[in-house]
Amino acid sequence: MSIRKLKADKIFDGRNFLTNKILLIDENAVVAGISEDNNEDDVEIYKGILSPGFINAHCHLELSHLKNQIEEDTGLVDFVSKVIRLRNFDKEEILHAIDVAEQEMYNNGIVAVGDICNTTDTLVQKRKSKILYRNFVEVLGFVPQFAQSRFDGIVQNVYEPFFAEMPDTSIVPHAPYSVSDEMFALINQHSEGKIISIHNQETKEENTFFKTGESKFQDFYQLINTNIDFFQPSGKSSLQTYLPKLNLPKQILLIHNTQTSEEDILFAENLAKENGQQLFWILCPNANLYIENQLPNIDLLRKHNCTIALGTDSLASNHELNILSEIQSIQKYFPHLPKEELLQWATLNGSQALGFSNLFGSFEDGKTCGVVLLNEDFTEVKRIV
Ligand SMILES: [Zn+2]
Repeated sequence: MSIRKLKADKIFDGRNFLTNKILLIDENAVVAGISEDNNEDDVEIYKGILSPGFINAHCHLELSHLKNQIEEDTGLVDFVSKVIRLRNFDKEEILHAIDVAEQEMYNNGIVAVGDICNTTDTLVQKRKSKILYRNFVEVLGFVPQFAQSRFDGIVQNVYEPFFAEMPDTSIVPHAPYSVSDEMFALINQHSEGKIISIHNQETKEENTFFKTGESKFQDFYQLINTNIDFFQPSGKSSLQTYLPKLNLPKQILLIHNTQTSEEDILFAENLAKENGQQLFWILCPNANLYIENQLPNIDLLRKHNCTIALGTDSLASNHELNILSEIQSIQKYFPHLPKEELLQWATLNGSQALGFSNLFGSFEDGKTCGVVLLNEDFTEVKRIV
């Protein structure tokens, strides 16, 4: 069997930078080890850093046709209203945009994606894809009496077609402000031992909705002719209101977290520990800057040893599907963060968040994690394997 021997200024193995080492990859793209550099002559030599392929822990591939359709800095409530209004696009256009966006991710060194699905529009693409997907079929529904029929409809029309081909698929809540207690209960019952995700605390309004009941979401429901007079604010933050309703999943991916307080972090991590769950804090900084011009308090998450991974969100709220661009944005606002840590969020942690750490995320023997080449200042990425 022929083995490729790869060398660069540094090898990032998923956790640390290594120097004077050679990465061994077999002809099936499987990692065959890391060896000492003995100046052999059949070594491919690169300038920069070799890293395992990137993991995009949060995306909505099916919204790719919405690229450049929504202006920046609208705030989340207006953003969500616009996405709803833009739902009726030509099917061919949607499928073409999905194809183009996926190729973009591949070229940007992304090997696996956690993808939100409200439709089966991405199924054809995923069948033939070189990228591995964990599909999160999303449900919304804030009116309690429609919970069961909504849930059953999504199971039949979206979940089952995905599940038939990709059994790792799970059903997930969209966001705290769009899912009723009854719907949370149905999702929770369906999630025992599974990985789920939820858009968490993406705007101040979300916390206000639960704390006082007077937020832009009340106006939003009026706008879509939905009576929510039944709703009783809990007086607590969004996270502290809904997280206790999700005790059965084994892993929960909390997406965004721009308005998560220190108290929320401690509450969430303690509750997860009690329930034997693992939390992943998924950051999508470019989408946060696009929609609300806000960023999560990354220093606070690090202070409490939260496990962080990265996502791009969709092209409705991002100019590209590129994990390296997310890293660049974090570096701009948090220049003190060690490069190794940022790369670990983009690789190993992402693979664990999606339950794919047996395949991706680090240069450990037997993994098919892909190999990407980065320059030292993190402005360019190229696929090597
Ligand atoms: Zn999202």
